[in-house]
Amino acid sequence: MIEASKHTPQQDKDIILYKRIRISVDNVYRNEIFSINLSRYLMSLHGVQQAQANPITGRILVVFDENIINEDIIKEEIDNFTNTPSSTSKNIHKSNGQLPYHVLSTEHIMKTLKTDLKNGLSNKSSHERLQRLGANVLSENRKKNFFSNLLEGLNDICVKVLLGSSVVSFFLGQFVEAIALGGIVLFQVGLGAVEKSKSETSLNALQNMLIQKAKVIRDGEKAEIDSKQLVPGDLILLEAGDKVPADARIISCEDLKVNESSLTGESIGVLKSAKMCPLHTEMGNRHNMLYMGTNVLSGVAKAVVVCTGKNTEIGKIATMLEEIAEETTPLENKAEGFIGRLIKIYLAAFSVIGSIALLAGMNFVQVLMMGVTFFLGAIPEGLPVTVTTCMVLSVRRMAKKNAVVRHLKAVEHLGSVDVVCCDKTGTLTLNEMTVRKIYADGCSYEVSGIGYSPFGKITLAEGDPTKAASLKELLKAGILCNKASLIQEKNKWEVQGDPTEGALIAAAGKINLDIDAFKTDHTCLKEVPFDSQRRYMLSILETKEKETYAYCKGALDTVLQKCNYIYENGAERLLTKADIENIQLRCNEMAEEALRTLAFAYKKLQHQQEELEKGFVFLGFVGMEDPPREGVKESIKKCLKAGVRVVMITGDHMKTASAIGKQLGLLTEGLVVCGSDLDKMNDRELEDIISKVQVFARTTPEQKYRIVKALKRQGHIVAMTGDGVNDAPAIKEAHIGIAMGMKGSDVARDAACITLVDDDFSTIVAAIEEGRGVVKNLRSVMKYLFAGAIGEMLSILLSFVSGSPIPFLAIQMIWINLVSETLLGSTLAVESPSEEVMLEPASNKPASLIDRPLRNSIVRRGLAIGISTFVLFKGSLLLGASLAKAQTLAFTNFICCQIANLYDSRSNKSGTTNNYMHIMTGLSAVLLAGILYLPILNGLFGTVPLDPLSLLGLAGGIFVSRI
Ligand code: ADP
Ligand code: MG
Repeated sequence: MIEASKHTPQQDKDIILYKRIRISVDNVYRNEIFSINLSRYLMSLHGVQQAQANPITGRILVVFDENIINEDIIKEEIDNFTNTPSSTSKNIHKSNGQLPYHVLSTEHIMKTLKTDLKNGLSNKSSHERLQRLGANVLSENRKKNFFSNLLEGLNDICVKVLLGSSVVSFFLGQFVEAIALGGIVLFQVGLGAVEKSKSETSLNALQNMLIQKAKVIRDGEKAEIDSKQLVPGDLILLEAGDKVPADARIISCEDLKVNESSLTGESIGVLKSAKMCPLHTEMGNRHNMLYMGTNVLSGVAKAVVVCTGKNTEIGKIATMLEEIAEETTPLENKAEGFIGRLIKIYLAAFSVIGSIALLAGMNFVQVLMMGVTFFLGAIPEGLPVTVTTCMVLSVRRMAKKNAVVRHLKAVEHLGSVDVVCCDKTGTLTLNEMTVRKIYADGCSYEVSGIGYSPFGKITLAEGDPTKAASLKELLKAGILCNKASLIQEKNKWEVQGDPTEGALIAAAGKINLDIDAFKTDHTCLKEVPFDSQRRYMLSILETKEKETYAYCKGALDTVLQKCNYIYENGAERLLTKADIENIQLRCNEMAEEALRTLAFAYKKLQHQQEELEKGFVFLGFVGMEDPPREGVKESIKKCLKAGVRVVMITGDHMKTASAIGKQLGLLTEGLVVCGSDLDKMNDRELEDIISKVQVFARTTPEQKYRIVKALKRQGHIVAMTGDGVNDAPAIKEAHIGIAMGMKGSDVARDAACITLVDDDFSTIVAAIEEGRGVVKNLRSVMKYLFAGAIGEMLSILLSFVSGSPIPFLAIQMIWINLVSETLLGSTLAVESPSEEVMLEPASNKPASLIDRPLRNSIVRRGLAIGISTFVLFKGSLLLGASLAKAQTLAFTNFICCQIANLYDSRSNKSGTTNNYMHIMTGLSAVLLAGILYLPILNGLFGTVPLDPLSLLGLAGGIFVSRI
């Protein structure tokens, strides 16, 4: 079945001898797609010059370099390809020309993707690929357009009722009213749609603030880029907590575990390796592939991007993702539900009243017209739009204060938070570490210098001056078990990587250790990165002399557990119980000074597989200063005043945590509980004490989760911060999950509903303040709108019952709805929260929109407005005024009462002035004066100019309405 012949391409003057073979392959015959794919696949193999399958003859021609690849391998590859499930003609569309990267060697992949294993792509070619292949995004942000918002708005029940009324008035011959009413309803719907589109745009913009970064190697340099700019061929670096930014093939990895639940639904992490997979491996088992959107749980990896954007596995199912239901917030739901119920009540009431009216001899037209005015007055159409506007405005304000909200519904929960659980390092403190004290071989040292600058002095404070070798050994361990680096930028030293590790490099610089020399003299064989669960980091290194050492650094207790020896006077000796007690004592002393402690040990290894749990030699420990953030103390005070408890949850030492807690005023007379104590308690016991705990120290992420649950069971509304991968469950469980924008992992950010751009505790407090402000604003909007609606309805009802005509003309009611509801109501939504919101105790239950006091005040105000309007109307009629004058009085009175109501409804009465409100009020007053005194408008609105006596009556009406 094979014909072979030696072949030398004529044009080729090189001495490469290409061999040419023809192989007949069953599936090729009459199968064009398969032929193309097989050819492509073979061409991707290293050493294959040309591959051409012919569907007519059923044979494939392969031209290859015999020095690189041979016939057998080619045949095997053809066999492999033919038997892949995805290559059968049925499924071929799916694989769509994509290569089975999991079976190819990295060299093959590098060659097909034209990239370099060491230097990655050049900036130029990556740019060119980006142009050609497009950005690495699943789908453009599907923005709902104005029209779909418009349609949605028309679907609203209020709108339907009002449009119905407009149609009714049209058929009754009331053309002016019909057009005006229809026009205004449509205007409102349009306004709502504009607002909605605007709010969506701004929410999308917020999402864009949280760009996902990818670490790449381009032109041989490490860089962090927006993951949208990744292209196939890019080399990427991943570590625990990262979200995989594109589909990639692993080149090398260490201890790599990935959670692929977003793709496979399997929530247990899968172990990955760089080894090749057999061709038939299912996606879930391709251990050498990484898929976009999955999360790295542990370890590190270097990988090459093979597919981006829509071509990724997740991209192929992205249509599913687009279906994600659009969320409405509970508050919006409540507001809408409330109106729905109201309308039903109105309809019932109207049918009763209407029937009575008909029986009393009114004609049908009159009753229907009354219905139109009645509905127009009684429904607060502006409400749903205003609720959304309120929320969106506050989300925008929060973004300005560095809190990016991902879900609108977080906003309302924020207002009722009564416990904030937060990290210590980086949130309460600056996460700017400086080594201040060192303890090694019975000696204590003091360290001077500022920040990460490697200049300063290490002076002996206590102990034997001849023991400096131990100090050097300790600092050496500090730089060898270290992934960070220091760079000098404009006179300021900055750390790249973990600040804790950066501080160690700075300290080593202070005794002039040649850091670069140490690093080049040691080759890293293996590394176990730091993880807050393990609480240590370990590096295995080989020296120039081919000796292998393990260096470990971490929390004192963890490191001590691994140690059997102690380094003393340049030699190793057995670690005694007395040593351990002494070390712990000294470490506690350091921790009490609010220093973060970190211990060091090493072990000489005979072979690489040696046990790493014990046999280490203890070197000593350091104490690092991590100053509290500015403003945190004040924010904590603010929280306490607002009835919000702040609980510190940290992986740090109990003594360090307590010392910082005291400095910040967070730890007063509450308890400090250690992770190990926590493990001894059952859930009941934990719940009994949890309300008194102010600091949790030495906790693991799992314990964080348990703490949130216990707090929730105690009826608290909990906000929880976190940064690591392991924090995600606790963040998800909390009512308000808060992730750190700067040091946080992608995984934590995904789980959270709020991200703090600056990682600052004070931002959380500002967000709570906003959350409370929003609920206040909504309540004032409710009060304003509902009191108005009740007032309007009541005056109509009373007039009807007393046998008078309706107090407002339809056109006047339309004006009331346009001016007083829409324009003035929106001014309440823009109020920023007052200082006072943080002086009230936390409500500790999800914000209820309308509670009893609010309802009472709405009803009271509504009654007062309704009665004062009715009394003026009826009174002037009785005193012999014309109907037009009586209606003008009623109309003017109503608008003025609503302006008074507006100012009384403000939540932030004492705070900043609301200029927007003043302007809108001024505007509506001027317009009202126009309607009253300009003859043209008199004609249009059916009003008459008011004399001083009537104005006096008005003043009385307004006064009454405020009772
Ligand atoms: P937190 O963030 O709450 O302060 P961590 O989990 O970061 O707590 O740290 C807990 C302890 O782990 C620290 O007290 C320190 O001893 C140790 N540790 C912190 N960072 C590192 C690191 N990079 N390498 C080794 N050990 C570390
Ligand atoms: Mg930490």
